[in-house]
Amino acid sequence: MIKANDVISLHYSVYTHDGVQLDSSRESEPLLVLLGSRFLIEGLEEALIGKSEGDTFTVKVEAEKAYGLRHENLVQSVPKTMFEGIDVEVGMSFRATTDDGEQSVIVIEVEDDQVVVDGNHPLSGMDLTFDVEILSVRAPTAEELEHGHPHGEKGDHSCG
Ligand code: ZN
Repeated sequence: MIKANDVISLHYSVYTHDGVQLDSSRESEPLLVLLGSRFLIEGLEEALIGKSEGDTFTVKVEAEKAYGLRHENLVQSVPKTMFEGIDVEVGMSFRATTDDGEQSVIVIEVEDDQVVVDGNHPLSGMDLTFDVEILSVRAPTAEELEHGHPHGEKGDHSCG
């Protein structure tokens, strides 16, 4: 049974509440993760605890335990002059320095002299459904626990 801090290899697909697939590991390598390292969203980590190798399951995760709720105060209008020399278009992302430190923002609107940027995570405010297959489960090595990340499938790879 999966416990906090176990190292798990899994395949997942993630969907919006109306069934649109957002991402999937199934066309590439499985995801290898050390639980408890805040790598996975909270709701998915909670759902994994107590499951076993070989289990497949579907879990619906509410926005609060996925990428958080949307905060309208993270949507801001800034003067276009701040983007001097850049042909700003909707969908571009930039690093911005805010009161909370460095943050990624996405341009959602371009006006004559203002640009509207959104600092919310693109998946914030969304309830997500995960389709998960647990491929392997093992205890972490002391070194993995110390580093806070897995060292390969068997724990014998060096992270350099
Ligand atoms: Zn390491």
